[in-house]
Amino acid sequence: MTKITVNEDTCIGCGACIAIDSEHFDFNEDGKSSVIKNNNFETDELKNAISSCPVGAIKLEGCDCGDECKCGDDCQCGDDCACHQK
Ligand code: SF4
Repeated sequence: MTKITVNEDTCIGCGACIAIDSEHFDFNEDGKSSVIKNNNFETDELKNAISSCPVGAIKLEGCDCGDECKCGDDCQCGDDCACHQK
């Protein structure tokens, strides 16, 4: 299953991801970014947030099929994509 992760050890709390994609990210009580929604992975805002993180703390993990995901579950991928073969 696909999921967004933020490495809180790496995050410097700059807020860029939250400014770009408040659907998926918000500050936690430690002033670091926290994932608040783990679906709807194909938005431009999410892609921009990931690419804008200055320390590379945000990852989209668990599925290798990327934008081609079309199945109905949370991972939104096809039945024959790599993540269903693991
Ligand atoms: S852009 Fe990166 S460093 Fe900045 S708050 Fe988000 S996860 Fe943390």
